Amino acid sequence: MTRRILIRRGTLVLPDRRMLVDGDVLIEGRVIVRVGKGISDPQAQSIDASGLLVGPGFVNLHVHFREPGQERKETLETGARAAARGGFTTVLCMPNTSPPLDHPLVVQALRLRARALPFTNILFAGAISRGCQGKEMCDYGLLKEAGVVALSDDGASVESSRLLYFALQYARYFHLPFILHEEDSELSREGHMHEGEVAFLLGYKGIPRVAEDSRLARDVLLALDTGARVHFTHLSTERSVTILRLFRGQAPVSADVAPHHLLLTAEDVLRFGPLAKVKPPLREKRDIEALKAGIADGTIDILASDHAPHAPEDKEGSFLDAAFGISNLEITVPLYVRALVEDGVVDWIELWRKLSYNPARFLGLENKGVLAEGKDADLTIVDPQTEWEVDVTQFESKGRNCPFQGWSLRGWPVYTIVGGRVVMAERSIVDGEFC
Ligand SMILES: [Zn+2]
Repeated sequence: MTRRILIRRGTLVLPDRRMLVDGDVLIEGRVIVRVGKGISDPQAQSIDASGLLVGPGFVNLHVHFREPGQERKETLETGARAAARGGFTTVLCMPNTSPPLDHPLVVQALRLRARALPFTNILFAGAISRGCQGKEMCDYGLLKEAGVVALSDDGASVESSRLLYFALQYARYFHLPFILHEEDSELSREGHMHEGEVAFLLGYKGIPRVAEDSRLARDVLLALDTGARVHFTHLSTERSVTILRLFRGQAPVSADVAPHHLLLTAEDVLRFGPLAKVKPPLREKRDIEALKAGIADGTIDILASDHAPHAPEDKEGSFLDAAFGISNLEITVPLYVRALVEDGVVDWIELWRKLSYNPARFLGLENKGVLAEGKDADLTIVDPQTEWEVDVTQFESKGRNCPFQGWSLRGWPVYTIVGGRVVMAERSIVDGEFC
């Protein structure tokens, strides 16, 4: 018999219509079959959602699951479990693995493994250049056929303007959008943290804002010129927002942030040491204010994670030897609630829109990001009130490299439903059947 789940008495979040309504949702198999008030179905498994927000599952455009090649940091399975715990029903893995996702066979093998995992829908971005080295274009037709949904050389920026210019034109034939990490490596070279007072005090080489600003400016113009769909990921600077705001509406561009860039500054390097080493680096108060203004006015329309798990040994040594990155997939949503909802930057509807509807539209996922009859039964249920402490020892992710340990946060996902199956209930992974 087809599995049926009835979610009762929730506050339904309809991000496409910018509405909150009280009601129930009935799921049958992998599809939402009814949305409305007073639905009854005695045969269905029932979830009482009173006091909870029920909406389309969150879609995350930026995670690193480290497969293939760095399974000691994360695997598709541990990453997928972390996604379910974080309320993400779809995630996009970046291609800077070892080897990188620059060949259709690597992509096909990973997709087979991903499909066997029930916890989240795992999608893959293919590399823009072979080996993510920025020298030679990949074969986008073959990558698309193998199943990639976007292109990126994340971890680095495409240094060659010429290569990117041709890549943007070539990829249009295959309707593949680009996700760009903006960093002029000539300017950021050997930098470990934001270039400013704290770096000066500690004697560390800095990464100046202009490393991001100048590269983003170039690529906005390339997007404008070629008409290619370009998304800028993990913005960190005031001027990035200003440039993007100037060209939005003219060029087919969009942008996301990562939560740590809204909550921490370069000064936190003094408190957290290697745990606060991340790329782009934690900036200053005025950058946070500018990013929030960009989120409020829609210049930044997507919220992502840049979930970058590492093994303990990658973060245990000195700051200079430590790897860049923060593991945050399981706490991304409550971190955004702290940074944006509690601070009055956006309301719950707008937050949900930037976490589900907008990224689903960017990836062309017509049946995701919307809570309506006939759409995919990917849903997230959030408790907007109860406060819980971040406990990295409870992470499903292998990556415990997280400076937010011990923070008390609200807005935690409490149920995650993927393809009509409850994969997370009351903040714990459901390994067998949910009952
Ligand atoms: Zn990146």
